Amino acid sequence: MTENSDGGRRRRNPLAGALAKYTLDTVVTETGPVTPSMRRILLRADGPVPFAWTPGQHVRAQINDPLSMAGILRPGETLRTYTIWEFDAQERTLELRVHLYGGEGIGLRWARTAAPGDRVTLWWPQGDFVLQEAPYHLFAGEETASVAFGPMLRAVGPSARVYGVLESEGPEHDPPMPVPDPLRRVHRDGASAASSTTLLNAVTALELPAAAGFAYLAGEARTCRMVRDHLMRDRGWPKAAIKLKPFWAPGKRGLH
Ligand SMILES: Cc1cc2nc3c(=O)[nH]c(=O)nc-3n(C[C@H](O)[C@H](O)[C@H](O)COP(=O)(O)OP(=O)(O)OC[C@H]3O[C@@H](n4cnc5c(N)ncnc54)[C@H](O)[C@@H]3O)c2cc1C
Repeated sequence: MTENSDGGRRRRNPLAGALAKYTLDTVVTETGPVTPSMRRILLRADGPVPFAWTPGQHVRAQINDPLSMAGILRPGETLRTYTIWEFDAQERTLELRVHLYGGEGIGLRWARTAAPGDRVTLWWPQGDFVLQEAPYHLFAGEETASVAFGPMLRAVGPSARVYGVLESEGPEHDPPMPVPDPLRRVHRDGASAASSTTLLNAVTALELPAAAGFAYLAGEARTCRMVRDHLMRDRGWPKAAIKLKPFWAPGKRGLH
């Protein structure tokens, strides 16, 4: 038997055993605000963490059990993807940072209400949204993307050349980033983060070296594509020099 996040007891699904080598059982140890619209959630693994992690990679939080009847009927309402902001293998701790957008979804509900003692199973680090060898690095995205950019900026090294733009709703919503912080801040001031011309215009205005570096574009899907199109069309960047990772899209649920 295991304990549900709501404290109830349930019988462990036999299939869960087969998945166990990909998952990690954790408990929430601390939560708190990063900004008025971003919440940090600290988790501690029950046992040693047998997985590696590269900055920029994410986990999938099992908010509802995909092997339960409800999960089988509504598989899109089970897992949500969050980037690891900080990971300490020795302490078995990791921090997630979740953007509290104005809307509705199982991830949002979980992030708003997560409290010390809650249990959550993680499907371990995945993803190739990680640093590449490049003459310089360009980051562009909004609040959700900042969670990937932070650890990548910590890992990039002091001699690396870094450019970029971070968009948020307003100055009080600017996610704090590791220093030195080379990213320009821009604000939507009530406009939508979807198909954001605020971010596009700011990237367009950046003074970049003439030759391509490597770009990391994350956040809302269409905004990412608009920025990628600008880099390729107006600056002549090859597609291979751009890593695009849509984190969410209007009307889509649970991208991963
Ligand atoms: C690789 C990857 C890494 C990610 N890392 C992070 C992270 O570190 N932190 C983080 O906060 N999120 C991150 N996300 C996004 C996260 O997985 C969820 O999509 C997000 O929390 C919304 O989940 P939900 O269940 O509330 O809404 P969903 O059910 O997934 O979506 C419901 C609707 O809400 C709207 N919506 C969803 N997200 C936003 C938003 N940000 N702004 C405005 N409207 C929105 C859309 O219209 C969507 O159709 C990541 C996604 C991916 C794919």
